[in-house]
Amino acid sequence: MQRPLYLDYAATTPMDTRVREAMWSYLTLDGEFGNPSSIHAYGSAAMHAVDIARMQVAQLIGATPQEIIWTSGATEANNLALKGSAYFYQSKKKHIITVKTEHKSVLDPCYALAEQGFRVEMLTPQKNGLIPLQDLMMSICDDTLLVSIMHVNNELGVIQDIHQIGALTRKMGILLHVDAAQSAGRVPIDVKAMNIDLLSLSAHKMYGPKGMGALYVRRKPRVRLTPLMHGGGQEHGLRPGTLPTHQIVGMGVAAEIALQALPEEMPRLARLRDELWQQLKVIPGIDLNTDFAHAAANYLNVSIADVDGEALLHALPGLALSMGSACTSAQYTPSHVLKAIGVSDALAMSTLRMTIGRFTSEDEILSASMAIKNAVLHLRQDRL
Ligand code: PMP
Repeated sequence: MQRPLYLDYAATTPMDTRVREAMWSYLTLDGEFGNPSSIHAYGSAAMHAVDIARMQVAQLIGATPQEIIWTSGATEANNLALKGSAYFYQSKKKHIITVKTEHKSVLDPCYALAEQGFRVEMLTPQKNGLIPLQDLMMSICDDTLLVSIMHVNNELGVIQDIHQIGALTRKMGILLHVDAAQSAGRVPIDVKAMNIDLLSLSAHKMYGPKGMGALYVRRKPRVRLTPLMHGGGQEHGLRPGTLPTHQIVGMGVAAEIALQALPEEMPRLARLRDELWQQLKVIPGIDLNTDFAHAAANYLNVSIADVDGEALLHALPGLALSMGSACTSAQYTPSHVLKAIGVSDALAMSTLRMTIGRFTSEDEILSASMAIKNAVLHLRQDRL
């Protein structure tokens, strides 16, 4: 049986075969399987590979290798950034600002911190998902410790103006954390030019392995974090545990490929995304939730009036796509992101998030749009 056409690159990306090839050599006896912390030859060979990957990931975001801390993914990086900075600086400041449309791995640590006595403020974005700088400025006070704002939103694709936000937070002496799980490799990032203090990355969103990520922690001037785990002292004691060499190598190669592919990949994806929208926009009652002028090129989020979203998904067995985000779709509750930008519950329930990527072809775009148009037509006819 033919597998459904994959339009869910924001949920995860297939690994690039070049990444898999690089990872093979760090697993078995004939490869560099050593513990990177060991002092013998096996250890130093593995550590050499880790060092190269650290440089590759650093280059993707304009950081230095010493500023990269390996984690198990962006969820862990977000937790370490938020809780680690909150705990370290809590005797000085206790106010944290974030946004209602953040990923759960930012929102939930913030709720946990609120229960521990931190004051958490959630900003509401405007209709296109952007946070007006004015709103951020108004919420900053003497007690503000940290601002956490994602770069590219995982449902809408909207890109926050981190340059502007970073200039403000740096001027005010406030830490800026950016969840870049969806932007790394898709949108240029320069942590220095953007004045970012902490930045979370995930390998499986950029054609690397699942269960791997990193946190950028600025060195000059130094950002301090309280570790969440204690153990063997790896990663400057910030994230102890034996380094998973093959995973790290995979993330490094994925980062290198992403950086090199970015200039060509983005215009190609924007063309395919535009084509998909041109095909779909003729559907009566279709609404575009992605503001193309401010969005990553691989996103198309639409709401379709007068069809049941669950029925629509079931009517599209040939397409792998998402309603709202993958993390909330199991619950069939309207997405918190769509609610925050003012989409009604009814429309939010009939929303399709289509995300394309490196292996999406023009033929796939045409098949997908045809399938969606037919499904909507049939569902509406059935109701008559
Ligand atoms: N942040 C964002 C914006 C995401 O899209 C995701 C993945 N859904 C995460 C964080 C979590 O990343 P990971 O799967 O690496 O823990």
